[in-house]
Amino acid sequence: MSRMAVARIDLQALRGNLARIRELAPEIRVMAVVKADGYGHGLERVARALAAADAFGVAAIADGLRLRAAGHRNRIVVLSGPDNPADLSEMHRLGLDAVIHHPQQLAWLQEDRGTPQLRVWLKIDTGMHRLGFLPEQAQSAYRQLQAMSSVHPEIVVCTHFAAADEFHNPLTPQQIDTFMQVAGMRSVEQSLANSAAFLGWPAACKGWLRIGGLLYGLSVVAGHTGSEYGFHPAMRLHTRLIAVNRIHKGERIGYAATWVCPEDMPVGVAAIGYGDGYPRAAPSGTPVRVAGVEVPLIGRVSMDLITLDLRTTPDARVGDEVLLWGPELPVERIAEQAGSIAYELTCGITRRVLVVEADVTG
Ligand SMILES: *Cc1c(COP(=O)(O)O)cnc(C)c1O
Repeated sequence: MSRMAVARIDLQALRGNLARIRELAPEIRVMAVVKADGYGHGLERVARALAAADAFGVAAIADGLRLRAAGHRNRIVVLSGPDNPADLSEMHRLGLDAVIHHPQQLAWLQEDRGTPQLRVWLKIDTGMHRLGFLPEQAQSAYRQLQAMSSVHPEIVVCTHFAAADEFHNPLTPQQIDTFMQVAGMRSVEQSLANSAAFLGWPAACKGWLRIGGLLYGLSVVAGHTGSEYGFHPAMRLHTRLIAVNRIHKGERIGYAATWVCPEDMPVGVAAIGYGDGYPRAAPSGTPVRVAGVEVPLIGRVSMDLITLDLRTTPDARVGDEVLLWGPELPVERIAEQAGSIAYELTCGITRRVLVVEADVTG
């Protein structure tokens, strides 16, 4: 048995989460964002479960290629567009939509004679200052794109929020205002909202939603889990106990001997570590479930192993299931302990973890 750590992906949860978005926003098209290997859940697997989405969003052309190879005919949007002229031919060939956010990309497009026409999303920087044309450049960029024979005439105008997850932050309404001044008058297709904006900013929910986190049942608002909004976690990361040892009072556990046993006590060892993507930053006290009972992690997370305080589960045995995160133990709780976010943890599962699928309703 070479691999003990298993990530089980619940396809029904993925489908149910998309259905919930449809139910809450029946008129609005949904781009399922599947970048970073479907937030660590597996690109092809996630796309199969979410094939009913109106489009897929990816960060890299290579992901678009994988989705086409898997047979998907949906629109596929490359969220940062072409990185060089050769990318443009690849995007024509694969029928990938391009987000155009920079004058350099316009220059490549001017020289582009590819067919069929490229579908373009024009990205406006309304305040995040990462990617996009400034509002004062937007008109001109839009007109240039419209005049290009290699570009499809229906251009989607889009923007991205910096702080949509803070429901009282005035930055988001400012970004919405700025966007509407640029794109609001025109009868163009629009796309503003990510998962957090979908939950908190109804004014941003028009045209196309671009939803990642919620589809995986992840928290998109600090301090809240995905379940609190009716979305179901799709990943369940588990392993097994490979040792239960009695350690004496005063002895120290693990690397750097950071944790001292306050009494004679059982210490469990589970087969998972940062080599599997369990965060090394998770401190003593981080919750872990052993045979259904929550116990604290103790000592340092090592590459292959973690150590657990089993005083509240004296019956725990070698071979018992150890749950790191999943529906019964929100990944948000682990992320908070580790000073991270749920997205980073699910994205961070390594190749050593065996990924399996569960499909309850079949
Ligand atoms: C990743 C991404 C999204 C999805 O964000 P979530 O918070 O996961 O919903 C939407 N739009 C852009 C441009 C992105 O890069």
